[in-house]
Amino acid sequence: MSSVVDTLARLVASPTVSSRPLTELAAYVADRCEAAGFRVERFPIEGEGKLNLVCSRGPRNTDGLVLSGHMDVVPVEGQPWTSDPFRLTARGSRLVGRGSADMKGFIAATLHAVEALPPLQRELVLVWTCDEEVGCLGSRALVEQLADRPLPSACLIGEPTSFRILRMHPGHTAVRVVTTGRAAHSSKPDLGENAIRKAGRVLERLDQLADDWRRDVRFADLLDRPFVVMNAATIHGGVAVNIVPDRCTIEVGFRPLPGMDEAALVAAMRERLTDLATVEFVRGTPALLTPEGTELEAILRPYAGDPTVGAASFATDGGNLHRLGMAPLVFGPGSIDVAHMADEWVDEGELQRTVPILQEIIARRCG
Ligand SMILES: [Zn+2]
Repeated sequence: MSSVVDTLARLVASPTVSSRPLTELAAYVADRCEAAGFRVERFPIEGEGKLNLVCSRGPRNTDGLVLSGHMDVVPVEGQPWTSDPFRLTARGSRLVGRGSADMKGFIAATLHAVEALPPLQRELVLVWTCDEEVGCLGSRALVEQLADRPLPSACLIGEPTSFRILRMHPGHTAVRVVTTGRAAHSSKPDLGENAIRKAGRVLERLDQLADDWRRDVRFADLLDRPFVVMNAATIHGGVAVNIVPDRCTIEVGFRPLPGMDEAALVAAMRERLTDLATVEFVRGTPALLTPEGTELEAILRPYAGDPTVGAASFATDGGNLHRLGMAPLVFGPGSIDVAHMADEWVDEGELQRTVPILQEIIARRCG
């Protein structure tokens, strides 16, 4: 039997950057789950080699447990890695590799935890998603793909939280703001209308809107920034230095809090910019809010590094899984501070400790 470290090395060696197919990794994970007695369903999503895996054991419709994680990882380009990111490298107790923390460590630990399970009284479902890192697209497709399927309400998403229990996070909404003007030769700028200058005014208005949103404080007990945060993320405009630009596009992201109406926030932005630009909704990842005091929270508490239950600042698949009737908690090995960075690592001891924690949760919910 291989060790959990060997399994993590195998998972890391499959470079499942979100822009690439993850067929190879999904096949390996599916094989391991099948060998452990799980029924495996494959749910392809749009794009080459993109699929979610739903693996289940035990009697259906018995409200056991869901364990979930994403199989994709963020890119490594332009980062100062000091070893091959897709070859797990031990440095003292640190296991370095892309995805070691976010979140192949959790997948490896789960594969080990379920290897020799006794017969289950209640259903255990493993949900492995794709394209989480590019807007939770895999789990978003699952909302439709699994709509008619009764699933357990208890759900653990093993994102790296250094074993802190998180029950809430804001969503993430992307919009495209476009200014249009009139092209002219740059020697006669008065004959044109400069779309980039307009975009400058758009940015000022967006700052004002962000200030207004900052005054609507909610969840101050959970969040460091208990309001909707906004970020103007990319800007593109103009075609040549001697032409007055007639078009400029700004991509803006903002993070609605649980209970907020995303469409109303987009409409507020549209109204604020109405004389300057068009605002187009691109994609939204829902926020997550799981009530305090779930049974899963009680089971996890003895293992939590921090006794308080908190919130994540980042979005996860939890918002979409919540739409399927689950009450997800986010809890897992590794730190979000090293995720997405060069020389991402997970502590070997934390990784090893995850296996018995998962076995305990499974026994308590499904045994
Ligand atoms: Zn992640």
